[in-house]
Amino acid sequence: MELLLPEDQVRDLNVRFEDEHPTEILRWALQDSGLEQVAIASAFQAEGTAVIHMAASIRPDVPIMFLETGFHFAETMAFKRQLADQFGLNVVDLTGDYTVESQEAKFGPRLYERNPKLCCDLNKVIPFQRALAGLDMWITSLRRDSAWTRQNTPILYQYECQPGKMLVKLNPVANWTRPQVWRYLKEYEIPHHPLYDLGYASIGCAPCTRMVFPGEDERAGRWSGIMKTECGIHADEAAAQTATELEEAPALMEEARG
Ligand code: SF4
Repeated sequence: MELLLPEDQVRDLNVRFEDEHPTEILRWALQDSGLEQVAIASAFQAEGTAVIHMAASIRPDVPIMFLETGFHFAETMAFKRQLADQFGLNVVDLTGDYTVESQEAKFGPRLYERNPKLCCDLNKVIPFQRALAGLDMWITSLRRDSAWTRQNTPILYQYECQPGKMLVKLNPVANWTRPQVWRYLKEYEIPHHPLYDLGYASIGCAPCTRMVFPGEDERAGRWSGIMKTECGIHADEAAAQTATELEEAPALMEEARG
């Protein structure tokens, strides 16, 4: 499998990027990397909003992929529209093969409670994998200090995301802290998702997100109460995505792929 970037270049860039501002990392990605098909994935959380703002200042039409699961908070959808209008963003909604209604008709109600892995596969992993097939580089807003599953996140690496398909993954704010993100938003007067003001620290789909309590981890409110910490699209960073979901998942997946 041919690499998109020489390995020694990736190694040197990682050393350099550890001391560079994320805007400069993104400038390399969007102007100097030589890679054509580059997109950001974001759910418009604080760090994603910062990354989008930096990237759009370099390439205003950079695609911003949003996983439209159908299960987002109304506040998320409104904030996405607000930000897209304010900054003229090129937001691309990614959807799976099922609507909320057709998923319920096929798999029964509240699949996210009975089998969240399957629900995430249907609504996030499968549509996201399809989108990655057309990309050279995927830009995220992962931060190492946001969760123990992400503490070893490199800034830049490349991997075979699907059989025969190499991809460069860039995490430009990997070594930023939460306060650095919020300082950036404040400095540039960028709006933030309104649910942060109500006590949410990490915001995903409404049925799988709760507020966090003092002393809890930032992502403690995601899939709270079950052994699940990631939706599956950041499989490499998730040190231990424990699979405790229902045993029929593989069969259902086959059926879903149809
Ligand atoms: S986060 Fe919850 S509602 Fe959203 S796709 Fe995953 S299981 Fe389904």
